[in-house]
Amino acid sequence: MEEKKLKTAALCSDCAAPLHYGAKMAGQPRFCGDCRHWRMLMNKMGVPEARQAATSTNARWFLRNGWVYSKNHPSFHDAQTLAKKVASRND
Ligand SMILES: [Zn+2]
Repeated sequence: MEEKKLKTAALCSDCAAPLHYGAKMAGQPRFCGDCRHWRMLMNKMGVPEARQAATSTNARWFLRNGWVYSKNHPSFHDAQTLAKKVASRND
């Protein structure tokens, strides 16, 4: 019973995708690969914290305004590619 509960609770904190790794970090936000990558890039580029969650709204914002933060950043191209992917989610 308890085990089943933990498994269903393991969802990405940003996009609610089911996560394959366990409940080791219970109580902490957990993210899927794309969301973790997104947050890491946004953080590196100094994007405001309110825009760092991997939501389609934030990704669309980044596609319009992100260059201000990231035009000189070596990961700009990566971030744009990922933003397009995240923006196509329906959340
Ligand atoms: Zn996610």
